[in-house]
Amino acid sequence: MDTLSTGDTLAPVFTEIETILGKDTYDMWLRPASFGFEGQTLTIQLPNQFWQKTIQSRYEHIIKDAFLKHTGLEITVSYIIKEIKDPVQTVLQSTPIPSPVQTAAPVIQKSPFPARLNDSYRFDNFIESPSNRFAYKAAQAVVNKLGNRENNPLVIYSTPGLGKTHLLHAIGNQILQQNPAARVLYMSGEEFVSEYIEALQNKSSESFRKKYRSLDCLLMDDIQFVAGKAASEGEFFYTFNALFESGRQIVLSSDRTPHELGLEERLSSRLLSGIITEIKKPNLETRIAILRQKRDSINFDIGDDVISFIAEGIQTNVRELEGSLFRLVSYCSTHGVIPTIPVAKELLADILTQEEQRLAVNVNAIKKVVGKHFKIDMDDFTSKRKTQSVAWPRQIAMFLCTELTDLSLPEIGREFNRDHSTIVHARDLVKEKIKADPFFSAEINQIISDIKAVDKK
Ligand code: ADP
Ligand code: MG
Repeated sequence: MDTLSTGDTLAPVFTEIETILGKDTYDMWLRPASFGFEGQTLTIQLPNQFWQKTIQSRYEHIIKDAFLKHTGLEITVSYIIKEIKDPVQTVLQSTPIPSPVQTAAPVIQKSPFPARLNDSYRFDNFIESPSNRFAYKAAQAVVNKLGNRENNPLVIYSTPGLGKTHLLHAIGNQILQQNPAARVLYMSGEEFVSEYIEALQNKSSESFRKKYRSLDCLLMDDIQFVAGKAASEGEFFYTFNALFESGRQIVLSSDRTPHELGLEERLSSRLLSGIITEIKKPNLETRIAILRQKRDSINFDIGDDVISFIAEGIQTNVRELEGSLFRLVSYCSTHGVIPTIPVAKELLADILTQEEQRLAVNVNAIKKVVGKHFKIDMDDFTSKRKTQSVAWPRQIAMFLCTELTDLSLPEIGREFNRDHSTIVHARDLVKEKIKADPFFSAEINQIISDIKAVDKK
């Protein structure tokens, strides 16, 4: 049996699989596996049955489609379970399988528009919550009124791991369910740029353009990769316009607001003409609901107390939230251990510490930026001074903590040496002022982007 190696002509197959699954999912589930390929059979060697079940139910069809597309072969997949000592470590360290490198391989495409969708990302398994409700509704509205000016383009933005990719695929899957003949294409901004460069090199810009311009719906993920690269941004603009003018639907995702993308004026104003919606971090109830749903989908016995423990510890990123659950389940199923809070605590120690640090940075960043803006000292945030020149910035900082961090009101209270009712009062005061005064609202927006800039460093 051939063992696949880097540089193999199958590398583009794995590149495609990684793109569709997303890097984190790929790293989590496929990188720790070993692959062999003989005849038309792909053999996947995995640490345990749980792993096999997951790949079989969620990713096998994507693997098969990628093989079909790049090799023309309708493969079968067989599994071998080979226990490894510590699957968690293996997940972290990554064992060798063909690393996806861009090499030319004969491309045999069955359909001119393989939509490239992951059908495990659907509306029905996306947990709706106050933090994503608008994005979720807007995504559904797009499907029901494809290409309608009001919803075109739809731009969804958020920090990583909050469901943008999930929603983009859900839109595509739903469109195809209603109309299997629809020409839908999912791709990342990065792929768009590299395909465009390739088309330029091969002098095939015309067919590149044609391909995009005949779509009914373009789902482009992570457009921050297109921004700022003059030539591809220009090409994107033309593609965008051609689709937009002929009433085709465009859905984009980004890791920042359209304003922050630094796009050319003409493109930026087009993006702003549709719906722009942010997905915020989910609250505790939502995080618990997401974990319960994942637990039920993998059918593994894990108590609500452990679920709550993980949901409380991991607040900023749903991908890490579910990654932690899978890590625990995988460890426990391999070692025959019952998942309890102490086991979770030990197994997830690194990720929990990282998360604590991330949250800690936030409050400090808020105090730092607000302090600088209003020229008050860090100590003033916790002091008892009541003069307006100190009290008002302090209230603004309290408000920003309720908006930008996942801390509870009592937790924010502790950061300011106050009780939670003071925080509620501050939050409401500042909110009212934002509503009533557009200049103040603009000032707050500026402070927020400064905080985000500090926080990223
Ligand atoms: P992003 O593209 O914003 O980085 P993803 O869409 O890749 O995030 O989401 C990361 C993971 O979290 C995915 O597995 C996705 O299914 C899951 N996820 C995110 N939000 C939700 C949600 N509201 N309900 C269910 N799963 C979610
Ligand atoms: Mg994504």
